[in-house]
Amino acid sequence: MTKFFSAEQEQFRQKVRAFIDQQLRPRSTAWEDGGEFPRSVLLECAQQGLFQSDPWRNGIVAEELPRCESLGFALSFLVQSNLIIPLLEDFGTDQQKATYVPAVRSGKMMGAMAVTEPASGSDFAALQCRADISGDNLILHGEKTYITNAAFADFLIVAVRIPELTEEGLTLVLVPAQSNGVTIARLRTLGLSASGTGRIRFDGCVVKRGQVLGSAGEGFGQVQRALNRERLFGGLACVAWADYGMQKALAFARERSVFGNTINQFQVIRHEFADISLTQLPYFFSLDRGRVRHPSDLHDEALQLPGGAAGHHAVSPDSWRPRVQGRLLDEPLLSRRAGTHHRGRNAGGHEGNDRGLHAGVERSRGGIL
Ligand SMILES: Cc1cc2nc3c(=O)[nH]c(=O)nc-3n(C[C@H](O)[C@H](O)[C@H](O)COP(=O)(O)OP(=O)(O)OC[C@H]3O[C@@H](n4cnc5c(N)ncnc54)[C@H](O)[C@@H]3O)c2cc1C
Repeated sequence: MTKFFSAEQEQFRQKVRAFIDQQLRPRSTAWEDGGEFPRSVLLECAQQGLFQSDPWRNGIVAEELPRCESLGFALSFLVQSNLIIPLLEDFGTDQQKATYVPAVRSGKMMGAMAVTEPASGSDFAALQCRADISGDNLILHGEKTYITNAAFADFLIVAVRIPELTEEGLTLVLVPAQSNGVTIARLRTLGLSASGTGRIRFDGCVVKRGQVLGSAGEGFGQVQRALNRERLFGGLACVAWADYGMQKALAFARERSVFGNTINQFQVIRHEFADISLTQLPYFFSLDRGRVRHPSDLHDEALQLPGGAAGHHAVSPDSWRPRVQGRLLDEPLLSRRAGTHHRGRNAGGHEGNDRGLHAGVERSRGGIL
C-alpha cells in the first residue's frame, strides 16, 4: 500500500507490469521498426484488463505502459482508452455506444480522433472541414493531419462544421474509415513509428445524419473535455517514461566501466543524475512515487509540444516529445555529457541553484547512485 493506492490497486499494478514486461516489451522493437503492431496485441491488452474506466486503475495503466518501450504503441493505446472510449461513452447515442464501445473495449476495433487540420492546430476555431446536408445524409469535405492511429483505425471521430445547422459551432461525426471518399495517407514521423500517424482527406464522403456524435454544434466542448482527460493520463505516462529512462540510464552507469571505474563514480555523471532526480522528476506529478505537484502544471509543462506538430516532422527527433521527456532522456545523458558546458560547471562552479545541486550530489552519494 502507498500514499495513493490500496493493496488491491498495487496488486493490479504488479499484474499489469508483469504483462507488459513479459508480453509486450520483448516484441515492441519490432513494432517500432516495422511501423505497426499486430491488432491481436489490443485483444491481449483487453483480456488483461488494461482498458479501465476506474481513474486510479487507468492511472496505473498509464504509468506502467511506457515500460513496453514502444511509445508509439503506448500513444495508440492511450488514445483508445482516454479519448475514443470517453467520447463515445459521454456523448454517443445508445446505438452508437452499443456499436462501438464494447468493440473498442475488447480490442476488436480501433478509432481515431480527427480534429487537427493543415491550417488549424492550436487555432481550433480556424477549422475548415465541413459537412453539407443532403436529405438524411452528411457529405464531408476537407483534410485532417497528424492523426494518431489514422493508418489503423476502423472508424474516425471527425470534427467538422455544418453551416446549415450551426453558424459557429463544430460537430463531431462518426465515419467508418473504409467509407468511399476517405483517403488516408501514412505520415512518416521521427519516433512514435507504431502510432500510425496519418493525414486524412474527405472528398464527398457520405454518412448518415445519425452518425453525429451527441448534438450538432457541441464539438468544441466535447473535444476539450476529452483532451483534458487525455492530457492527465498522457502526462502520467510521460513522467513514468522519463523516470523509466532514468532508471535504465542508472543501471547502465553502474555497469559501464571506463578508466578503471564504473561511470556512476564520475562527478559529471553524478551531477546529472542528482540534477534530474532533484530538480526535474520531483517537479511533476507521479502517482507511483507519491510526488505531487498540481496537475494543471503537468498539463502545461509535460505535454506542451515544442514547435507544434510541424516540429516533429521537420526539426529534430526531440521536437515531438514532451519537453520534459526530451530533457530527461536525451539532453543530460547524451548531448551535454562530454561538452564544454560540463567542464565549465565542474571547474568553475555551478550555474543555477548551487545549493540544490550540492544537496543532490550528497543525496546521490548515499542514495540513487
Ligand atoms: C504526437 C502527436 C499526436 C497527435 N495526435 C493527434 C490526433 O490524434 N488527433 C488530432 O486531431 N490531432 C493530433 N495531433 C495534432 C495536435 O493536436 C496539434 O499538433 C496541436 O493542436 C498543435 O497544433 P499545430 O501542430 O498545428 O501547432 P500550431 O498551432 O501551428 O502551433 C505552433 C506553435 O505556436 C504556439 N502557439 C500557437 N498559438 C499560440 C498563441 N496564441 N500564443 C503563443 N503561442 C502559440 C504553439 O504552442 C506551438 O509551439 C497530434 C500531434 C502530435 C505531435
